[in-house]
Amino acid sequence: MIKYNLKCQNDHEFESWFSSSEEFEKLTKRKLLECIYCSSKKIHKSIMAPMISNSKSKNDEFEIINKDLKNQNYKLHKLRKYIEENFDYVGKDFSKRVREIYYDKKNKKAIYGTTTPEEREELSEEGIDLLSIPWVDKDN
Ligand SMILES: [Zn+2]
Repeated sequence: MIKYNLKCQNDHEFESWFSSSEEFEKLTKRKLLECIYCSSKKIHKSIMAPMISNSKSKNDEFEIINKDLKNQNYKLHKLRKYIEENFDYVGKDFSKRVREIYYDKKNKKAIYGTTTPEEREELSEEGIDLLSIPWVDKDN
């Protein structure tokens, strides 16, 4: 048995069971099918509504994720710009400079640079918390 969602020319939707798809074709050709609401003989298989709404919501979701990614990228660019303007770049000397600043309480310089995972670990053991920022390429 096959269940079909059917629709008449007046947009009435109903379900009907058939022994096979051939039977459905036969009955339609002979106009033996009629709408249960208005008795119209113009019946066709309707596309299942849930399928449409599903694929649509998937697209919406994709759109949102896509937008979010673009947005995220934009924020990261802004963040990078902010850091470049307000922090001193110390490059690979970062962990050394961070210690200098940390132990010299008067020095409130904001710096940024790079560390190796080992350096990071050492610093955090000394109680120096670092903020790791996802760095984006300027031209990306
Ligand atoms: Zn109808």
